[in-house]
Amino acid sequence: MYLIILGPPGAGKGTQSVLLAKLLSIKHLSTGEILRKAVTEGTELGLKAKAVMDAGNLVSDDIMIGIIRDAISTDDAKNGFILDGFPRTLKQAVELDKIMIELGYEGLKVINITIDDDELVRRMIGRGRVDDSAETIKNRLSVYKGQTAPVREHYMQKSAVFDIYGIGNINDINNEIVALLKGKKFKNQD
Ligand code: ADP
Repeated sequence: MYLIILGPPGAGKGTQSVLLAKLLSIKHLSTGEILRKAVTEGTELGLKAKAVMDAGNLVSDDIMIGIIRDAISTDDAKNGFILDGFPRTLKQAVELDKIMIELGYEGLKVINITIDDDELVRRMIGRGRVDDSAETIKNRLSVYKGQTAPVREHYMQKSAVFDIYGIGNINDINNEIVALLKGKKFKNQD
């Protein structure tokens, strides 16, 4: 199963991805985690990404597409993955489509977590990550609305998109996602 999880920062993508990866025995790939690890390790990627992330802006499409191309080409990703934090721009989505075709992966499904802005801000402030300061949060939300929200529309044209409301008990939300993945027809299917 090839999954993408979309939604604004603070929506619970990471939490739900970990649960889904375990349950479905697929690989969890979080671009935020990959980047934070690179920053901690002080690699070339980390040095490039740090200031961009701290400001709540997006790391360049070319860098991110390269990272994902490598990450999903491995043997353990072949049998399924959940992408958490990617694609974050239309360009990333279009390139991912091409990479999936090159690799012969079919049947991408998209989980889109929706949530209210005030709850997002509350959660991010509670989380206390370096990029969770008031100013950065504001910027990340506006970057999300401008650049990432259109990614859902891209997939509405061509894939199964499952919208999930992200407020409630973590396990209830997880069960709802699993039920949708297993049974429901595409929202945009005839
Ligand atoms: P959140 O979803 O809570 O905002 P992430 O951990 O997914 O956090 O990402 C943290 C930061 O890493 C982003 O604000 C951005 O700077 C960078 N990043 C992660 N994924 C991408 C991506 N696909 N494209 C560009 N930048 C990214």
